Parts: sequence; structure tokens; C-alpha cells
Amino acid sequence: MKMKLRFAPSPTGNLHVGNARTALVNYLYSKCNSGEMLLRIDDTDRERSKTEYEESIKKDLNWLGIFWENTDRQSLRIDKYNNALNKLFEIGRAYRCYETPEELSLKRKAQLISGKPPVYDRQAMNLTEDDHQRFKSEGKLPHWRFKLIDQDVNWTDLIRGNCNYNMKSLSDPVIMREDGRPIYTLASVVDDIDHNITHIIRGDDHKMNTFKQMQIFQSMNWTLPTYVHIPLIHTSEGKKLSKRDKASTLDDYKKIGIIPSALRNYLLRLGWSFQDKEIFTLEESINHFNIEGIGKSPSKLDMVRILSMNEHYIKHMDESELLKQFIDFCKLN
Ligand code: GLU
Repeated sequence: MKMKLRFAPSPTGNLHVGNARTALVNYLYSKCNSGEMLLRIDDTDRERSKTEYEESIKKDLNWLGIFWENTDRQSLRIDKYNNALNKLFEIGRAYRCYETPEELSLKRKAQLISGKPPVYDRQAMNLTEDDHQRFKSEGKLPHWRFKLIDQDVNWTDLIRGNCNYNMKSLSDPVIMREDGRPIYTLASVVDDIDHNITHIIRGDDHKMNTFKQMQIFQSMNWTLPTYVHIPLIHTSEGKKLSKRDKASTLDDYKKIGIIPSALRNYLLRLGWSFQDKEIFTLEESINHFNIEGIGKSPSKLDMVRILSMNEHYIKHMDESELLKQFIDFCKLN
């Protein structure tokens, strides 16, 4: 079976350097296995998703040398998510809830005070069809939750090794909002199934989603993909890199004159090495890349190293390329 990967940015901001690394790893892994990569635009958040961000993400990926075979977007697939929800309802794995955020917050507080874990109590599962009809006549629309099965879920991650979690301590995730907008937890699984995705490579911050999404895959009788969770990039102080940090988006790097091959090489070498080689052409990256070689710990962003790598590339650049990079740099500043 052909290897199929996807990179799935949400167009709610410019491309973050951590996401650029995820895209690069997806790209290299697909190339070195003669696979394909899909660019999936996760744009179900109508207020925050913007076409200009989508365009800038695509441009930044190409700037780094990353290309893909196909594109899809979640906003075009709302019917598919509704069909999946109906199926989950039929098999008893999706249920309707009406609690407001305030009510849920009060429930959580009460649980914490009495020393219980703040897990959703599944009260809505006791509602009868009459109750639902009454809510309907009162104009109350339900949001939907996926019923998790209380059991251990585990997978062998190509980077993190054996990952295991007991689902008892997790709340049933909300998968559809009152207004009919699907939540990523469901939408992503439906997309991965429809696109025959074989490998899901994404940031470590999605690990908890993976446990829940694996149960959604299983409830739909679908073969599980192989999971790979990449450690996050941290600031030099060891904190999670946030949008507020100076060097967080690709734009921040472009503006200080970092050239694409230098940033790509830096991202490739974050927590990964091949012999004692420092500099890789794109072709060499594809030839030598092995995903299992990526370290498990978060990598600290090292601006001194990025700048010295940049210097190396600039010194070895031919004049016409240097001129092109210089013109691009002047346009931005
Ligand atoms: N849109 C999600 C994100 O940007 C995608 C996560 C995934 O790869 O499943 O975090």
C-alpha cells in the first residue's frame, strides 16, 4: 500500500516554526518512502480561519522547499462529518448533551472539591427521547459527545515508543457543536479515513487527542494509522514556543535575513543527526532521513546556531542566488 501522509495546518495565523518542522518531517518521510503528502486545511473555525493565512502558509511551505501532491479543506466536507456522527449515534457511540459551559465548569469545580477527577459525568446519557423532544421544543440544540470506552489504549509511536493511557480518566470528547460545526477530534479522523492516511505525523501536543481519536477509528472499524509524535520546539529558556515569541513564525526569520535552505537544514537537524554531517542538500536530507532517529526530548531554539548556519549558506551561495535572496529580503524590510 502506498504511504500517505498529511500536513493539516489551521489557517488562523502565519506558519509557526514548530508546524514548519512537522511539515518538513512529513515531507521528508513521504519522499524517502515514495509516498504522497496531502495538505489539509483545517478551516472549520469560521471566525478565526482566514484565506490570507492559508495563502501565506502555502507560500511559506514552498519557500522552505516543501511541496505536496493534493489539497483538501475541512469546510468542504461538513456532510461527511454529519454522516459519521449519525453512524456513531446509531451504534451508541455518540450522544446529545445540553449543558452550558457555565454548568460544566460548576460540575468540574464540585468534582475537584470532593477530590474526584474532573471527568464529564455522562449525565446526558440518561436523557430520554421525551427529554430531547422537550429541549427541541424549547429551542435548545444539543452538542454531541463521543462515548469513550474505559480501557487502556496504546500504540507504538515511531519516535516515542510505547504510549499507553487508561481512558477512564478522560472526559468523553465533544465532537460536534450546537451550531453544527464539527470539532477537530472527529473531523480529523473522518478525513484520515477518507484519504487513506497511513501515517499521522504531528506535534507531541496532540498525544491526548491520539488516544481519543484511536477509539473513533476503532468504532468505525478502520485500520489504525501509524502514529508519530514529534517533540515540540522550546525557547532557549526551555518554555513552549508561543506565538508571542519573537522567532515563532517563518516571517520572523525571513525578516532578519534567514534564507530558506539554512532554516530547513536547521529544522532537519533539530534532535536528528546523520554521522557527523552538518549540512544537507534537500536531496541528501531525503536520502539519509530516518524518522526513528528523531530524539524524544523537546529541542531548544538556538538562534546562534541558526545564524551560523545562515552564514555558511550565504558564503557558499552563487552570486545570482545571493542577489535573489537579497532582493527578497529588501522587499520584506
Ligand atoms: N489542525 C491541527 C493543528 O494544526 C492538525 C493536527 C493534526 O495533525 O492532526 O494542530
